[in-house]
Amino acid sequence: MNVKRIFCIGRNYAAHIEELGNAPDSDCVIFMKPPSCIVPVGQTVRLPRGAGSIHHEAELVIALSGGGANIAVEQALQHVSALTLGLDLTLRDLQSQLKDAGKPWELSKAFDDAAPLGTWVSYQQQDLQALEFTCSVNGEIRQRARTSDMLYSVARQIQILSRIWALSAGDIIFTGTPKGVGPLVAGDVIALESATTGRFEWRCS
Ligand code: MN
Repeated sequence: MNVKRIFCIGRNYAAHIEELGNAPDSDCVIFMKPPSCIVPVGQTVRLPRGAGSIHHEAELVIALSGGGANIAVEQALQHVSALTLGLDLTLRDLQSQLKDAGKPWELSKAFDDAAPLGTWVSYQQQDLQALEFTCSVNGEIRQRARTSDMLYSVARQIQILSRIWALSAGDIIFTGTPKGVGPLVAGDVIALESATTGRFEWRCS
């Protein structure tokens, strides 16, 4: 798939909002990464050096076939074409500084290799709010997600994004991370797995 735009949803799982000390009643956050951030399965993830801690955020990722602007929530899922798992890699120390200063998050979210992305599985009406997935580092499970815990469903995310952008083929959405985010260092092997998508693994350097 030729990815054109990467939309990311932040603050979509209550337990993760709590672990980062953010207000529980905050709206979801929307940001973007350039497609050049993508690291396909089988390639090494090159972690930035000297920029503080780098956290893994394991996320369900969905791809759109189109849709346009102002999509109704009831029609949103008919524009989903595929799903997979991905990592919204985050320079956490830098992000905290940017948040405190009220500045945009790009430096902490849109660096090279910031979006390892699994292989696409075709969307066949799987229940996107009933998936479970895990993220493990060096064989130890760090994150365990149930998409039923999302505060904003995939359909709602599509609706919200389509108020600002006319959505089209090539748009993908990182749908937010559950609790359990933590640091990655060079030499780590990180794996994402679900029954629906299978298992994806990357080595970090
Ligand atoms: Mn995220």
